[in-house]
Amino acid sequence: MPVTEDRQKFVYDFTEGNKELKDLLGGKGANLAEMTNLGLPVPPGFTITTEACKVYLEGGEEPPSMRDEVTAHLEALEERMGKKLGQADNPLLVSVRSGAKFSMPGMMDTVLNIGLSDESVAGLAVQAGDERFAWDSYRRLIQMFGKTVLGVDGELFEDALEEAKRAKGVTTDVDLAAEDLKALVARFKDIVAKETGRDFPQAPREQMDLAIRAVFDSWNGDRAKLYRRQERIPGDLGTAVNICSMVFGNLGPDSGTGVAFTRDPASGHQGVYGDYLQNAQGEDVVAGIRNTMPLAELERIDKASYDQLMQIMETLETHYKDLCDIEFTIERGKLWMLQTRVGKRTAGAAFRIATQLVDQGLIDEAEALQRVTGAQLAQLMFPRFDEKAKTELLGRGIAASPGAAVGRAVFDSYTAVKWSRSGEKVILIRRETNPDDLDGMIASEGILTSRGGKTSHAAVVARGMGKTCVCGAEELEVDTKQRKMTAPGGVVVQEGDVVSIDGSSGKVYLGEVPVVPSPVVEYFEGRMHAGADDADELVQAVHRMMAYADRMRRLRVRANADNAEDALRARRFGAQGIGLCRTEHMFLGERREMVERLILADTDTEREEALSALLPLQKADFVELFEAMDGLPVTVRLLDPPLHEFLPDITELSVRVALAEAREDANENDLRLLQAVHKLHEQNPMLGLRGVRLGLVIPGLFAMQVRAIAEAAAERKNAKGDPRAEIMIPLVGTVQELEIVREEAERVIAEVEAASGTGLKLPLGTMIELPRAALTADQIAEAAEFFSFGTNDLTQTVWGFSRDDVEASFFTAYLEKGIFGVSPFETIDKDGVGSLVRAAAKAGRATRPDLKLGVCGEHGGDPESVHFFHEVGLDYVSCSPFRIPVARLEAGRAAALNGKGGSDSR
Ligand code: PEP
Ligand code: MG
Repeated sequence: MPVTEDRQKFVYDFTEGNKELKDLLGGKGANLAEMTNLGLPVPPGFTITTEACKVYLEGGEEPPSMRDEVTAHLEALEERMGKKLGQADNPLLVSVRSGAKFSMPGMMDTVLNIGLSDESVAGLAVQAGDERFAWDSYRRLIQMFGKTVLGVDGELFEDALEEAKRAKGVTTDVDLAAEDLKALVARFKDIVAKETGRDFPQAPREQMDLAIRAVFDSWNGDRAKLYRRQERIPGDLGTAVNICSMVFGNLGPDSGTGVAFTRDPASGHQGVYGDYLQNAQGEDVVAGIRNTMPLAELERIDKASYDQLMQIMETLETHYKDLCDIEFTIERGKLWMLQTRVGKRTAGAAFRIATQLVDQGLIDEAEALQRVTGAQLAQLMFPRFDEKAKTELLGRGIAASPGAAVGRAVFDSYTAVKWSRSGEKVILIRRETNPDDLDGMIASEGILTSRGGKTSHAAVVARGMGKTCVCGAEELEVDTKQRKMTAPGGVVVQEGDVVSIDGSSGKVYLGEVPVVPSPVVEYFEGRMHAGADDADELVQAVHRMMAYADRMRRLRVRANADNAEDALRARRFGAQGIGLCRTEHMFLGERREMVERLILADTDTEREEALSALLPLQKADFVELFEAMDGLPVTVRLLDPPLHEFLPDITELSVRVALAEAREDANENDLRLLQAVHKLHEQNPMLGLRGVRLGLVIPGLFAMQVRAIAEAAAERKNAKGDPRAEIMIPLVGTVQELEIVREEAERVIAEVEAASGTGLKLPLGTMIELPRAALTADQIAEAAEFFSFGTNDLTQTVWGFSRDDVEASFFTAYLEKGIFGVSPFETIDKDGVGSLVRAAAKAGRATRPDLKLGVCGEHGGDPESVHFFHEVGLDYVSCSPFRIPVARLEAGRAAALNGKGGSDSR
């Protein structure tokens, strides 16, 4: 097949390709070529490229030079095989198979036995010494060709086949004799003629050309399009077409076909895993017509082929350095390889296989890290519902925080706490949650809300606590007053009924679904040791992979935690500090009244009294936290949410006051509260009086917090501890805001230093979570020793999306329309929000080269986002304690992928 230099080559012999050419030859073609070049027994053939397919799909015609190339390759094939396509006395038959870059199992077309005709069927009978086989092959061709190439309704053939069996009084097609099949061929040809207005093509080359077109066309078939959308496979890749000489597994008991894995895709164990079907073609295995036998039995039936197969599997594993799955056929005792590819595997097997391959010396640690993902690790960390259990689905929401939780339905926090204290496991069901629900959330096994998205209060807090959460389950009607929830089918869940929620899939079930625990979490918690004699094999593999990642990564990993318990867990999970301590959680519960007093204060004295009451409590919080994280940095963020969040609900309070007034029994405090609530009420609280703005208008608030931090640090130092507090200012939009806060903070710190006789180093930095802050990062860096990107708010403000509303209201539509592939609140929007992060990091460092850069939005624990933060050069990511192992792993993977590993990260 001479091809001139300047002409594009559209056809490659199997001997010409290799496994790296998947873009051009598709996965199947590239791997067939690779196996051919390894000297493995692959039936000879050639591949038409995806480029040819693209030309065809664009213009409706094959590229002009393709036909000649196919001719040249076919002639070469005929010569090698010593027979011609469809030759009457000794026919060469070929299969025409699709094969895209990414596996799309069963989504596109394949035609077998091309080359059979009224004439060559006799030649095949002689060749095979089996007339029945020849006619059966011919009827399969007409059936498959009729359906996929000519577009005839497949049922017409099925019906005719059924009819033939009925007429003969048999139940399987194996019982049809040569004569019956001959009659069936005539019947099938009639169907083709009637349905298409033309005869079944007898010319072998015409059959082949039409089949090639049909495979090209099948790229745009409905099934293929749907699959691509689901799997996010680009629509413009096109498929390659593989033309392969036929081998037959249905030539008698010494023939057969099978599939195998080089090791167990469920456990990773090495051994013989696969199925074999004697006297059958590949399609029979897939169709499940007869029961297959375990591959190990092939040893008994055909030891020579079995031994050869084992040898080949070893060659493939060593060559691909990974688990491979294969398809093979044995034709009268001769083994043929029809396909191989790197096989899919479960999350657990992925970890085990990666370490096994390192032990075998096949891959190094950096490569091992590419063989697993953070998503797989996350899967391994959550207790799961038993897949085999029977379930009754009530509805579905957003999978907000993974895990499997079972408990009795409760509709308010008070009941959640009360019931859990008496030993009941409960699921807290709310329309949405707010800081008031914290106790209830802590007391619950899991949280279910009918409103809110992945960054809603329920979702963020649940993830922080490692609690299962399904949010935004809009189809479930939650009625907290009546204490019930109604599912779409009318099923009603009353308080006390048992429900099960799956935070990995968003599914909500009625009743108890059995749960299996995760040994991997036991390991991270330190309750299971990887070195123990009887240590779980999976745990050992995870342990080793984490060590590889830690050695490799450049990014540090910190935790978002605001109490000692979370901090200690984060430390056990490998956190190298706290990147975000949200102090608002310290203002709830019993302290709420003090906050109310602060808000209601009319005079400086009243305000100062309220602040002085809060100070020792804040200080105690920080002492505990600094002790838990001794020797590691703790970034404390000053108060962020709008103050009205600390006051009672406006509607409830209004009703209470109105009722009291009607009874002429108004309570003075309630009246003042109501006034304050009205005053602080905002239409868009997320864009209102919060963050640094609050610190600037409520005198003494930030000063009190800074004092608490400084005094706690001094106390820890005096106790010979090593506190490393950092003070972080939220929602800064301009450097002036920061300068004012800084001045006051420095004054307070100096006072504490003087009073305690201790020198304190308390770096002061800011969150970058507003576009203006990002755009003026060069100026802001003048007053900040560190930046922490608050990508939750930054996403909200860059897109103009309300983080509490949009995910439930229209994100599903956006995802369906392909406006984005994943929520920008989940994975950083690299082009928009990400480019601001990149620019701000650069501008900040230009002003202050040693500026420390981190991220503490939810994206800090998201695998894809971690890679982005590695790439833009941040120093650390901060995420909820339960996501720390995933962030460590992904930071290691990112470094390994970019060849920028380093051993200084831990
Ligand atoms: C953020 O905005 O990304 C952030 C971490 O702060 P919060 O979620 O508390 O607003
Ligand atoms: Mg924020």
